[in-house]
Amino acid sequence: MIELKSLTKVYGKGSKTATALSGLNLSIKKGEIFGVIGHSGAGKSTLIRCINLLERPTEGEVWVDGVELTQLPEGQLQEKRRKIGMIFQHFNLLSSATIYENIAFPLRLTRASKKFIDNKVKELLALVGLEEHRDKYPAQLSGGQKQRVGIARALASDPDVLLCDEATSALDPQTTDSILRLLLDINKRFNLTIVLITHEMHVIQSICDRVAVIHGGGIVEQGEVTEVFLKP
Ligand code: ADP
Ligand code: ADP
Repeated sequence: MIELKSLTKVYGKGSKTATALSGLNLSIKKGEIFGVIGHSGAGKSTLIRCINLLERPTEGEVWVDGVELTQLPEGQLQEKRRKIGMIFQHFNLLSSATIYENIAFPLRLTRASKKFIDNKVKELLALVGLEEHRDKYPAQLSGGQKQRVGIARALASDPDVLLCDEATSALDPQTTDSILRLLLDINKRFNLTIVLITHEMHVIQSICDRVAVIHGGGIVEQGEVTEVFLKP
């Protein structure tokens, strides 16, 4: 489903460079929840941002569903990107748009009809349990509710993959658990492949099928969660 081959990312030029990833290889299967864990500065953000080419790798290949993304012309890349949803640590919602409009936003950029968008947004509001909050603004919601909006928005274009960039790091433990349960539910219901990065072992142990440990821009260990870490 997702294959990263010899991925290298070097930031900067000349004498001021930082190598975030060096020759990293990773293979993620359709329908699995794959976790990447590592300390700050290990290269997690860079890795996940390379999967949708939010960050362009310096070298190497990014395969998603049989297509190598780094070689695609811009038009086709945009198309592919729509099938890769992403959620963020700080939610990245539009503060001056309602919850409804935040979720509708990716669909407003397409030629989808008003009726189609309305049905889709209502379905997503129900899925994440925010029907009563549709006309509120992000500032009126709790962190967990904001992340639910982020998830609904990411699902609006029926993605094949959901990328989660430290998606629960700004949340308290209880809220973290409810968001993780929602992600697990979505994974099972839609057979959606989920890739998440985190520095928290708990996140990996509660929902991931497989895990990779990243250190210094490379994968130092990977496998089934139960093999790599003993369950508590
Ligand atoms: P993590 O998400 O694990 O904290 P990052 O991918 O953010 O790791 O960073 C990996 C390395 O790349 C770090 O040394 C970081 O300082 C560096 N880095 C990340 N983004 C940039 C950038 N935009 N410019 C320069 N260096 C960067
Ligand atoms: P996190 O661990 O949450 O990823 P970071 O501090 O590693 O936080 O990175 C936060 C943002 O800053 C990222 O978008 C990353 O690309 C950028 N960044 C990280 N390190 C550097 C750096 N040395 N120079 C410029 N930008 C950086």
